[in-house]
Amino acid sequence: MDLVAYADVAPASGETVQGREFRQIPGGKGANQAVAAAMAGADVTFIGAVGDDAFGTQLRSNLVDTGVEVSGLRMEPGASGVAHIVVDGHGSNSIIVIPGANGTVTGLEEDDLPLLRGSAALLLQLELPMEGVVAAARAGRAAGVPTVLTPAPARPLPGELLDSVDLIVPNQHEAAAITGEDDPERALAALLELVPEAIITLGADGSIHGRRGEEPTRVAAVQVTAVDTTAAGDTFCGAFVVARAEGRSPRAALEFAATAAALSVQRHGASSSMPTRAEIDAA
Ligand code: ATP
Repeated sequence: MDLVAYADVAPASGETVQGREFRQIPGGKGANQAVAAAMAGADVTFIGAVGDDAFGTQLRSNLVDTGVEVSGLRMEPGASGVAHIVVDGHGSNSIIVIPGANGTVTGLEEDDLPLLRGSAALLLQLELPMEGVVAAARAGRAAGVPTVLTPAPARPLPGELLDSVDLIVPNQHEAAAITGEDDPERALAALLELVPEAIITLGADGSIHGRRGEEPTRVAAVQVTAVDTTAAGDTFCGAFVVARAEGRSPRAALEFAATAAALSVQRHGASSSMPTRAEIDAA
C-alpha cells in the first residue's frame, strides 16, 4: 500500500515540512506491473502475498477490480507491504519500502506452476526475498516462459538469478548501480554481458533498448507535463511486455510503453494513474 505525502519541497534529513495532501493508494512494484499489463490488454495472474490487515483486503480488491487473477495471492498473518512516498512540487518522488507479507514469498507453491505454464511472460521485481525471485525465475525458465526482471529496489543480483533472466529493465540509477557505468549506452553494453536483452529507462529522456549483437534503439519520452512520476517505470514495463507478447517490434513496443508511461505521469498515484488500452491506443 502506498502512503503518499505531497509537499512543495521534500524534507531534508532532520527537517519537518508542511505537506499539501495525503493519499493512500494501492501499489507495490509487482502489483503495479500486473495492473499495468492487465490495463494494457493482457490476461494477468498475480503470485505474491498480502497481510491479514485492512491493507491486505484493499490490495486484493484492487487487483480483482482491475481484472488481475489472484488465485496465487496468499494472505499471511501480519502486516501488508507498505511504501512511504514523498512527492515534491516537481512530481519527483522518494520512497521507503517496508516488505511486510512480501517477505514471506520465498518460493513458488505447487499450485503456482500451472499458472506459469503457457504464459507469454513472467514479470519479476525485487520487493520479495531474493530466494523467492530466484525460484520464480528458474521456474519460468524451466517452463519456457520469457522472464523479465525490473531490478528494483536496487540490490546485488546473484548470477543464479541473471542466468534465468531474458530481459532486464532498470532505470538509469539502477543500471548504474548494477554496472558501475553512468553513461546509458555503456551501461546497456555492460548489462548485455549479463543478460540477452535490456532496456534502461531514462525518465523524461525516454529509454534505450538493446539485444546482444544488435545496434541499440533509443526512443524519446512523449513530451507532457508530469504531475507524479510514481510507477512510470512499472507502467512502461507492463505495457512493453504486452506489446512484445502481441508480436510488435522492439521499437514499436518501446513507443507503446512510452505512450502508456506518459499518460501515467500526468495523473497522481501508482496503479490509479495507469491508462487503459483504449487510452494508450487513442494517444
Ligand atoms: P518510477 O520509479 O517512478 O516508477 P522509474 O525510475 O522506474 O520510475 P523512469 O525512467 O523515470 O522509470 O520512467 C519510465 C518511463 O516513463 C520513461 O522511459 C518515459 O518513457 C516515461 N516517463 C517518465 N517520466 C516522464 C516524463 N516526465 N514525461 C514523459 N514521460 C516520462
